[in-house]
Amino acid sequence: MDADPNRVTQLLKQRLERYSSEPLRHFIDGEPVPDPAGETFLNTTPIDNSTIGSVAWGTGGTVDLACQSSAAAFKEWRSTSAAYRKELLHRIADGIDRQAMEIAAVESYDTGQPLRFMVNAGKRGAANFRYFADITPTVANGQSIPTPNHLNYTYRQPIGPVGIITPWNTPFMLATWKIAPALASGCTVVHKPAEWSPYSAAILAEIASDAGLPKGVLNVVHGTGESVGRPLTEHPLIKAIAFVGDTETGRRILQQGASTLKRVHFELGGKNPVIVFKDADLDRASDAVLFMTFSLNGQRCTSSSRLIVERSIHDRFIDMLLSKIDNLIVGNPMAWTTDIGPLISRTHLEKVRSYFTSARDEGARIVAGGSVVAGKGNFVTPTLIVDAKSEMRVAQEEIFGPVLTALTFDNTVDAVELANGVEYGLAAYVWTNDLERAHRVASALDVGMVWLNSENVRNLQAPFGGMKSSGIGRDGGDYSFDLYMETKNVCVAMGTHEIPKLGRNR
Ligand code: NAD
Repeated sequence: MDADPNRVTQLLKQRLERYSSEPLRHFIDGEPVPDPAGETFLNTTPIDNSTIGSVAWGTGGTVDLACQSSAAAFKEWRSTSAAYRKELLHRIADGIDRQAMEIAAVESYDTGQPLRFMVNAGKRGAANFRYFADITPTVANGQSIPTPNHLNYTYRQPIGPVGIITPWNTPFMLATWKIAPALASGCTVVHKPAEWSPYSAAILAEIASDAGLPKGVLNVVHGTGESVGRPLTEHPLIKAIAFVGDTETGRRILQQGASTLKRVHFELGGKNPVIVFKDADLDRASDAVLFMTFSLNGQRCTSSSRLIVERSIHDRFIDMLLSKIDNLIVGNPMAWTTDIGPLISRTHLEKVRSYFTSARDEGARIVAGGSVVAGKGNFVTPTLIVDAKSEMRVAQEEIFGPVLTALTFDNTVDAVELANGVEYGLAAYVWTNDLERAHRVASALDVGMVWLNSENVRNLQAPFGGMKSSGIGRDGGDYSFDLYMETKNVCVAMGTHEIPKLGRNR
């Protein structure tokens, strides 16, 4: 990939000129279209809160057009051959690869996530399409269940048009992670990107269309959660909702989808523990804690935002972290050297700032950061909070910013109790060189994913998702098709077995 800084600047400049001169459109029935009601909203960059451009603002009427288009396209798309879908998905991946640097630049400017991480998000978007393209030929496969008189056999069929609702923290990566398996299944999609980060969804629709995706198979409607998300989750033509976002929004979506019995898959919030035992490789553990807390500005669902460290090494480990935090560069996300960029919005910055106050009010100590950087952008300093108690807000609530809260433990039972003592259950990280203890602790943790002696390293075949308030369902590998496909059973008589007879008693 072309990582020449001048080239990045030029690609971004071209896009920004376009965004400032014409409103970003929905993508419905194979065409970029303005909103029928003509409404738009402004989108800003968190770097200095200046306007990037205006964006079509959808309503229930727009959602209905997109759902009708998806339902019409489903009739043909569902029965296309797997080989054809595989080839098309690969062509989309090729298109993403070609534009990965442009996607990264746009997304970094739009979300404030540092370019060096967004470059990987672009590549990962292509990898998502390639991975699901390659397993398309087997997605319909089922079981054969023979008995002497009957054969039951199963296969999977696409569920229908689906709604995909994504957040702003890693928009392109998450959208492709959901859209690729939906298309591989034979479903058609209405995508509602977050209103804070609409641009990369529009680029994906362009790429898919250029790759030859038939009209209506992928529709994109921009707007807010209330104006577009709600009607999408309530629409009778939409059979399932894949949602990534806040736990409270997930609760609302369950209610909104109740009357049409929507199938849902939810990837929600987290307050993920990283447990560090005294026998761990502390240098590696501290690198991983730093990476999993501060990369992506701490705006990542799998962030290791709660450090649970053995008391005897607490001071030493905190000192190691402090010296590494000292070297972090907070600044313009478009600079390759930046570690931490601005938070997505002023509102979100105020939310993160409120936790600095809350930590102090509740008696914890902020030993690094804890401040907002003066200026026009939404920058906060990387923050480390110590002397916290598990019941404090900073130890219980998802902050979704570059903030680490440290707790201490004396024995394994305490460590597990602290780790499990929150409403969330997405991911956990455990650092120890005691193999048996590592597996015992992994088994005792109420979370969907555990990384032992590792930061979050993803294998696309492995299940991804959370327990408790962190989600419903898993995706990754074959798990992704649990949402997008229905299993059908066909039972066939293999001979002339005896059929029970009624009406013999008159
Ligand atoms: P959010 O819930 O505010 O918004 C997510 C999406 O939902 C947006 O597109 C929004 O417009 C839409 N939405 C809002 N209200 C809606 C409604 N009533 N009906 C339908 N759609 C609605 O979340 P956010 O602030 O954009 O993202 C941050 C959250 O996402 C954090 O909690 C984070 O942990 C979570 N997240 C989870 C994962 C995971 O895999 N578990 C991954 C990334 C982010």
